[in-house]
Amino acid sequence: AKVAGRDRIRFFDSSMTRELVRKKEIEKELRAAIQKDELSIFFQPIVDLKTGRIRTFEALVRWFHPEKGELRPDEFIPVAEETGVIITLGNWITAQAAKACAQWPEDVTIAVNLSPLQIRAPGAALGIMAAVRDAGLDPHRLELEVTESLFLDDDENTARFMEELAAEGVRFALDDFGTGYSSLGYINQFPFSKIKVDRSFVSGPNVGKKSDAIIRAVAEMGSTLEMEIVAEGLETVEQVKVVSDAGCTLGQGYYFSRAVPDFLAAMLLAQDRGR
Ligand code: C2E
Ligand code: CA
Ligand code: CA
Ligand code: CA
Repeated sequence: AKVAGRDRIRFFDSSMTRELVRKKEIEKELRAAIQKDELSIFFQPIVDLKTGRIRTFEALVRWFHPEKGELRPDEFIPVAEETGVIITLGNWITAQAAKACAQWPEDVTIAVNLSPLQIRAPGAALGIMAAVRDAGLDPHRLELEVTESLFLDDDENTARFMEELAAEGVRFALDDFGTGYSSLGYINQFPFSKIKVDRSFVSGPNVGKKSDAIIRAVAEMGSTLEMEIVAEGLETVEQVKVVSDAGCTLGQGYYFSRAVPDFLAAMLLAQDRGR
């Protein structure tokens, strides 16, 4: 039993070490990737469910690794967050996204995902405004998507950050709504103009009468509070119908389009506007 115990400990140790090494490696490569131009921003349309028109593109980062191929953000954003690389990466993403949006028709907005750490960095709000100004983008066209995890420990700093940017016209969306907890408090306390209902309410094992009723209730709250409700992860026409009937105003998902590179986003827009 002693031997097994020792082995287990040794195994545990080495797997922890391996995990650390892997993280260090990703961190190093990620810093280099920004320089080497291996990262790019893709854009996924968010569509007005009544008119079918594209209202927003969400910026989603992609990493084209020379050996590992295309890496999904879920594989490297967490490492970027743990190591602090997210600050550099996030600034780069915001700048790229703002530049792209500045080329699109004026009624189209850009949504950028923000990690909690980015907000805590000193001068975070100023940095975002600088990116917007450099791109020549009207701040009203920038939306920042944040999740509930943002509010877990630093309410005051977060409030200041949001108020500073909201005063400049920047808008906020509460992302992945329904996956965290006490979200209603955040809606009450912070200046959100949009709620994005998580994909788990639209597809998967927990979808049914209950989830429909929840979407309906959220949509109703949205219309009372003059917030737009986005349904995420729409893949089928049936799902589009369910969320439209429930009162969601906007939809996003593979049914409309996957995230695409900038030039394809521009083409989608041209088609959309009949030009
Ligand atoms: P998210 O903000 O919830 O983004 C939506 C994710 O759902 C995207 O995955 C998108 O490709 C995927 N998706 C969209 N429509 C559908 C659909 O109809 N069906 C399915 N099954 N999936 C759909 P992606 O691009 O892999 O991003 C994953 C997450 O990584 C994002 O979740 C976001 O939390 C994070 N992320 C992506 N880009 C950035 C970024 O630039 N900065 C930060 N901080 N996080 C990012
Ligand atoms: Ca998002
Ligand atoms: Ca989301
Ligand atoms: Ca998500």
